[in-house]
Amino acid sequence: MLFKYVRQYLPIFVIALLLMFALGISSYAQEVRIEPRIPEIPGYVMLKCDFHMHTVFSDGKVWPNVRAEEAWRHGLDAFALTDHVEHQAQDIKPNLNRPYEIAQSTANSMNLLIIKGGEITRSMPPGHFNAIFLNDVTPLKTDDYKDGIKAAIDQGAFVFWDHPGYQQSDGKGVWYPEHEELYQNGWIKGIEVVNGLTYYPEAHKWCLEKKLTMMGNSDVHDPRSDKSADPVSKMWLRDGVVFDSIFEG
Ligand SMILES: [Zn+2]
Ligand SMILES: [Zn+2]
Repeated sequence: MLFKYVRQYLPIFVIALLLMFALGISSYAQEVRIEPRIPEIPGYVMLKCDFHMHTVFSDGKVWPNVRAEEAWRHGLDAFALTDHVEHQAQDIKPNLNRPYEIAQSTANSMNLLIIKGGEITRSMPPGHFNAIFLNDVTPLKTDDYKDGIKAAIDQGAFVFWDHPGYQQSDGKGVWYPEHEELYQNGWIKGIEVVNGLTYYPEAHKWCLEKKLTMMGNSDVHDPRSDKSADPVSKMWLRDGVVFDSIFEG
């Protein structure tokens, strides 16, 4: 009886299995990389980058290696996970270097450059600052924000001011004496002219006046939809090294 049942329905099971397999293959094949169309400069290699992303290690909602997969699908060449150094998730063993370590193998397998970073997170002024190209994120967690930024600078990091309109009643950035001091020290090298979907025209002007790098980053916290339109920062390389006079304005 059982044998008859199996014999009767076996072809259906086989077809169902084959279909599941085929659908599985096709959904995998749908993992497509969408390259943003940005004009190139002859003689330089342009990397499309996002230097501001969060993971579950602070207040983001995804595990670090998922950010690498998302970065690949979004056509990025390089990215930095920049979790808040002061606000670490309660349910995860705090370790400011772990997001980078976890995402590294996925990034490598997808030929993406992963850059170690962190976000120094203070109320305005001075607000939030990302440090990238770090060796160790841990020394950035200090009582005085200036010590944290100095610790990043001592590692040769690139530090930029995030979302300058943050905590301003009209959402418009103000250049406070704190920013002037950091700028005079040579510690701020760039400003987010675009953060997520927000454009800061005043930051655009400051970058032109003060020769600071204009940054455009997602500051993504949620899982990233393939359809989301996020800004990209550009990094130009000449002979395999970052071309300073463009990257630093
Ligand atoms: Zn922030
Ligand atoms: Zn952030």
